Amino acid sequence: MADFVGAIDQGTTSSRFMIFDRNGSEIARRQVEHRQLLPAAGRVEHDAREIWENVRKTMDAALADAGLVAADLAAIGIANQRETVVLWERATGEPVAPAIVWQDTRTAADLKDLDAELLRERTGLPPATYFSATKVRWLLDDQPGLRKRAERGEVLFGTIDSWLIWNLTGGGLHITDVTNASRTQLMNLATLEWDPELLALFDIPAAMLPAIRSSAEVYGEALGTVPLAAAIGDQQAALFGQTCFAPGDAKCTYGTGNFVLLNTGTTPVRSTHGLLTTVAYKFKNQLPVYALEGSVAASGSAIQWLRDQLGILDSAADSETLAASVEDSAGVCFVPAFSGLFAPYWRPDARAAIVGLSRFHTAAHITRAALEAICHQTRDVVVAMARDSGTELDCLQVDGGVTANALCMQLQADILGVPVRRPAVAETTALGAAYAAGLAVGFWRSEDELRAHRREARVWQPTWPAARRTESIDRWNKAVSRTLDWV
Ligand code: ADP
Repeated sequence: MADFVGAIDQGTTSSRFMIFDRNGSEIARRQVEHRQLLPAAGRVEHDAREIWENVRKTMDAALADAGLVAADLAAIGIANQRETVVLWERATGEPVAPAIVWQDTRTAADLKDLDAELLRERTGLPPATYFSATKVRWLLDDQPGLRKRAERGEVLFGTIDSWLIWNLTGGGLHITDVTNASRTQLMNLATLEWDPELLALFDIPAAMLPAIRSSAEVYGEALGTVPLAAAIGDQQAALFGQTCFAPGDAKCTYGTGNFVLLNTGTTPVRSTHGLLTTVAYKFKNQLPVYALEGSVAASGSAIQWLRDQLGILDSAADSETLAASVEDSAGVCFVPAFSGLFAPYWRPDARAAIVGLSRFHTAAHITRAALEAICHQTRDVVVAMARDSGTELDCLQVDGGVTANALCMQLQADILGVPVRRPAVAETTALGAAYAAGLAVGFWRSEDELRAHRREARVWQPTWPAARRTESIDRWNKAVSRTLDWV
């Protein structure tokens, strides 16, 4: 049998292909960025064809780097940016319009007419421009005759996973996985099928939709011979790559924003505290596993802001040295609500604030406050998760760019009051896609085998006494309240 598994990680800014061996160790990786098309305020688009070509390039290049050929891969899995919408022609495989990216807010005005109660109940998601449904409707309304063609099945809809599967298999296979489908706002979270009432609500013809499949099964063949055996949304892939297979396991990915996902087992937990309910993964014909998800809009981007706008850091990594030069933030709080607050507040009217300043304070205190903010925002989501799910976290698995900052991760353990663990393989998203594909073809046999691969690069234990934690949390809450009702 082939000795390696390949993973496509198709993200918002770049596409990469990684090759892993039996131990889950990285053998090769290639990455290519694609263009962010910004045709007007609030509009963010990608060229789906460019994305596909980049994926192809990274696959060829990574195989060549490793001195391997396609036949050396036992399977390929896909992790992808979620919610982004591609519409293409069945006959030619050509996109009919630029892909509308999840960040795009062009459909904001359409939200007020939506039944929030119904959407939350059926899909686990509130009305938001974030999800695919309003974007598909926008495209169908925008081009004369397009909806008619979609009704005849001539024009197809897919999220990026569908688009890649269609292309990887040479056209004709029009499918998606449950995790990606759960972010369209068109899938019924309980039945895992397209919901006819929602399709009618958004005026989207069923004929244009992909068939919904599990996240890990052999869908077809890629590169001619390799089983294409997994597709999973990127945040869910990171949860899988972190081997968060048990209810109560949670991970936080720290990048531009923070994404916290909690495995809640085989029953969906409806959030009453501002979180999303979503499918974590579904393995072949087994029961689906659900997750609660909390997204924080600005975390690592606060560090970028200190670097680029204020100019008080030379690099993001400098934030650690500078913040470590002071004992604490000396009462300063920084709430980076640059574009409002996401989970668990959902307050678009909030704007960022740095509060508690006196003449004594320096750039070091403000930087330390920014690191604390990253951690408090994660804690706010974790607290909401505990309220929704009734289970307290006993540790948090972490990954993403900010986790390079050891001081920040120590603060995270201190503020959360539970250990924080970072795995040796930082690329948990690609690893999750590889794990799912490898399990599907029997390359790996069990979740336990995957857990055994896990090498902790570092664990941070909480050190703060309870009184210090409480004081920090109280100050943070007070600071958050100062940012609300600003616009
Ligand atoms: P994304 O996938 O969202 O682009 P990454 O996982 O690449 O994010 O992380 C990039 C983010 O992490 C940036 O916002 C950057 O400011 C932040 N970052 C990177 N290194 C550090 C560091 N050492 N300390 C704090 N923040 C960092």
